[in-house]
Amino acid sequence: MDFTISERMETVLGMIREFVEKELQPLEFLFLAEPFRDLLPKLEEKRALVKQMGLWAPNHPEALGGMGLDLVDHGLVSEALGGSPIGHFVFGCQAPDAGNIEILHRHGTEDQKSRWLRPLVDGDIRSCFSMTEIDMPGSNPVLMETTAVHDGGDYVINGRKWFTTAADGAAFAIVMAVTNPDEPPHARASMILVPTDTPGFEIVRNIAVMGEPGDDWLSHSEIAYRDCRVPRSNLLGTEGRGFVIAQERLGPGRIHHCMRWLGICRRSFDLLCRRAVSRPIAPGKVLADKEIIQGWIAESAAEIEAARALTLQTAWKIERHGWKEAREEISMIKFLVAGTMLRVVDRALQAHGGLGMTDDTPLAFWYRHERAARIYDGPDEAHKQSLAKRILKRYRA
Ligand SMILES: Cc1cc2nc3c(=O)[nH]c(=O)nc-3n(C[C@H](O)[C@H](O)[C@H](O)COP(=O)(O)OP(=O)(O)OC[C@H]3O[C@@H](n4cnc5c(N)ncnc54)[C@H](O)[C@@H]3O)c2cc1C
Repeated sequence: MDFTISERMETVLGMIREFVEKELQPLEFLFLAEPFRDLLPKLEEKRALVKQMGLWAPNHPEALGGMGLDLVDHGLVSEALGGSPIGHFVFGCQAPDAGNIEILHRHGTEDQKSRWLRPLVDGDIRSCFSMTEIDMPGSNPVLMETTAVHDGGDYVINGRKWFTTAADGAAFAIVMAVTNPDEPPHARASMILVPTDTPGFEIVRNIAVMGEPGDDWLSHSEIAYRDCRVPRSNLLGTEGRGFVIAQERLGPGRIHHCMRWLGICRRSFDLLCRRAVSRPIAPGKVLADKEIIQGWIAESAAEIEAARALTLQTAWKIERHGWKEAREEISMIKFLVAGTMLRVVDRALQAHGGLGMTDDTPLAFWYRHERAARIYDGPDEAHKQSLAKRILKRYRA
C-alpha cells in the first residue's frame, strides 16, 4: 500500500486547511451560540467562495459538478474539514446528503436524478435518510414496522421514524419501508423518495440530543408517516433491495465519518498541546511539565496515528476490492476511531478545566454531539459481534 499524496492533493489539502482555519474557525463562536438557521446566510457566502475555488463537493463525480476524488483522497479532505464542525457543510459533502447523493447517482432513474440529484449536489436543497424507528431496534433494522403498500399507481406509507437527521428544512426523505412482507428479512424493505411537503409527512418534533433540539441541518427529527402517498415511480432501485442499497452506502459512509472524526482528533489534540504549553499550573510550571499530561499527549498521538492508518488502509481496500472484501476492516474502524475520538476529546476538554466545559472552544460541542458516534451507523457492540463472528468462523472451520 502506498499512501503517497499526489501533488494535486497536497495543493488541495493545503487550500482546504487554510480555508478552514481562516474562514470557518472564526465563525465557530456564532455556530455554537446561535440557531443554525441564523448562521445560514454567512455559510452560503462561504459556500460560494468554495465553489469559486473549485473545491465544492469533493467526493461527487465531476459530471455532477463535484471534484471526483476517490475514497482515499476524499478521506484526507474529510479529515481536513473535520477540524471545524461546519467544514463538511460548507464544502457540500455533509451527511446525510453525501450518502443520499451516492444512492441517487447509482440507483436513481433519469427523472429522479433531474428532480433531486442535481439540486442536491449543487447545495440548493437538502435531504434526509429515514430508517430508524422508535419501537424497533435500529441495530437490527430488518425488524421494521413502517409499511409502503401499493394503491393503484401509488405507495401509501404508514409508520413512525425517529433520529432522521436534518429532516427539518429538507426537501425530501429517503424512507425505508416494508414493501414485500412475505420475503426473507433482508429482502422485505425498499427505499422510497418522499418529498417533505407530501400530505401525511409530519415532523413531530426535533429531538433534544444532549439537551439541544437543534434546528435545520443540525437536528434529528421524529417523523410520523400517516397515509403518506407518493407515486410508485419514487421507488429507488427495485422493490426489496433497500438493505442491499443501504449496505453499499454504509461502507464509503463509514470512511467519511471516520476521517471526519480523525479531523476532530487532530483539532482537539492541537488544542490539548497548545493548552498544555501555555497554561501556568504552579510558579514557573505549565501543564505540559506534568507527566500525566505528557502521558495523555503521547497516548493520543499514538492512538490517532494507528486509527488513521487503519482507516486509510480500509479506504484503499474498498477502492480496490469493493466494500464486501473490506467488511472486517469497516467494522474495526467504526468502533476503533469513534473510541479514539471520544478519548482524545475528553483529554483535551479535561486539560482545559472550566474552559473546556464552555462553548468558547468546540470541545464541549464535540463532547456532546459526537458521543453518538458509538451508536449511529451501528453501535460498537454490533460491530464487535459481527467482526468476532467472522474471525471465529475461520477458526471453527
Ligand atoms: C445523533 C444520531 C443521529 C442519527 N441519525 C440517523 C439518521 O439520519 N437516520 C436514521 O435512520 N437513523 C439515525 N440514527 C439512529 C441510529 O442509527 C440508531 O440509534 C442505531 O442504529 C442504534 O439503534 P437503536 O437506537 O434503536 O438502539 P438499539 O438497536 O435498541 O440498541 C441499543 C443498544 O443495545 C446494544 N446492542 C445492540 N446490538 C447489539 C448486539 N448485537 N450485541 C450486544 N449489544 C447490542 C448496544 O449497546 C446499543 O447501543 C441516529 C442516531 C443518533 C444518536
